[in-house]
Amino acid sequence: MNALLRRCVARAGTPCIWRGKSFSSGNEPAESNRVTPMLRHLMYKIKSTGPITVAEYMKEVLTNPAKGYYVHHDMLGEKGDFITSPEISQIFGELLGVWFVSEWIASGKSTAFQLVELGPGRGTLTADILRVFNQLGSVLKTCDISIHLVEVSQKLSEIQALTLTEEKVPLERDAESLVYMKGVTKSGIPISWYRDLKDVPKGYSFYLAHEFFDVLPVHKFQKTPHGWREVFVDVDPQTSDKLRFVLAPCATPAEAFIQRDERREHVEVCPDAGVIIQELSQRIASTGGAALIADYGHDGTKTDTFRGFCGHQLHDVLVAPGTADLTADVDFSYLRRMAQGKVASLGPVEQRTFLKNMGVDVRLKVLLDKAREPSMKQQLLQGYDMLMNPQKMGERFNFFALLPHQRLHGGGQERNACQSEPPTSSVAGFDELVWQ
Ligand code: SAH
Repeated sequence: MNALLRRCVARAGTPCIWRGKSFSSGNEPAESNRVTPMLRHLMYKIKSTGPITVAEYMKEVLTNPAKGYYVHHDMLGEKGDFITSPEISQIFGELLGVWFVSEWIASGKSTAFQLVELGPGRGTLTADILRVFNQLGSVLKTCDISIHLVEVSQKLSEIQALTLTEEKVPLERDAESLVYMKGVTKSGIPISWYRDLKDVPKGYSFYLAHEFFDVLPVHKFQKTPHGWREVFVDVDPQTSDKLRFVLAPCATPAEAFIQRDERREHVEVCPDAGVIIQELSQRIASTGGAALIADYGHDGTKTDTFRGFCGHQLHDVLVAPGTADLTADVDFSYLRRMAQGKVASLGPVEQRTFLKNMGVDVRLKVLLDKAREPSMKQQLLQGYDMLMNPQKMGERFNFFALLPHQRLHGGGQERNACQSEPPTSSVAGFDELVWQ
């Protein structure tokens, strides 16, 4: 049996739920309020310095270096808390690999590029992309590629190294350094790990963020008769060892993030996402490349999307902190605003449209033709259904891209004097696939 196929079967069989599910925090059935080390830490902090913002709560719970949920946990997959597209089907990562090669060709085949992944989970997505780069070796042979992973989790970075690196070449580790780990991938490409995007060398790069922006901390605001008020997390005075949401008694500085013409009654804002988008835009505008961002989200329309996941079930965000994933839908309209016109943005387009435009049906057919056993075909079809079905991940997840302006407007090519607007180049995934 084909090795690629075998891996896909293992993934497609995973009967798990995905995180992009509608959920309003606080209405779940009572769950046991275990006093976790994180809860103890937060109670102490709040009792000594006062209520904390939801953003601070999320940041502490997820990435506190000592007790954070992401730092010491492998939460992905059947035995974990949630499952993501690359873990469901190899086709997902392969099509993203094709997208990067297509962008590399369309933007003039630079002699070198960095592939930078933010929040790489188990390293599965990069592994699938690297397999495509390997298969297209004849196209990429003159190009110097390096891999750069931005990851705060000690546990996940170890799993990424196992997935991606050649075990005969020992990893170089230096916890104090900005590059905390270095090695060589199974296909001989240099690979490095960082905690922060700012530390990744500048240069022609393709950036990738899949289910990364949704874990960044959000501030929450509620419209009241007295104006916008920020939501805070406080200790519940009625019950010991329990947290509750409260509204700030007066306006807070973070209110500056809310648009003047905002019509919603409740808003979530993620300043960390804004900082990252600004950094990506600056880099792409000055050194070229592109960013592909895929996540569940909305275009500035949703309100309360903050939710928790534990063992593939929705979980009250304030219960047993540190034992469950916390997430909020990505506001793509905010990401677009934060690009500040330095680069062009495309999307969001629904996952099923993006993958269809990338040729998901052709790839599925190839794998189905290669699959000998009916059970294997069945599992390939199940994985496809999970990614594409509008009731599953097909509509809930979106793709969004940042590209240099000249890439979209025929940079370098002569303009037709009769045209008032420059010709618009098509970008794979965001435009309908045309077979030639
Ligand atoms: N992209 C992967 C994993 C998504 S889970 C997939 O789709 O399967 C979120 C990932 O982001 C994890 O790897 C987590 O450790 C990482 N992460 C969370 N907060 C981060 C931060 N502030 N900086 C860098 N990585 C972060």
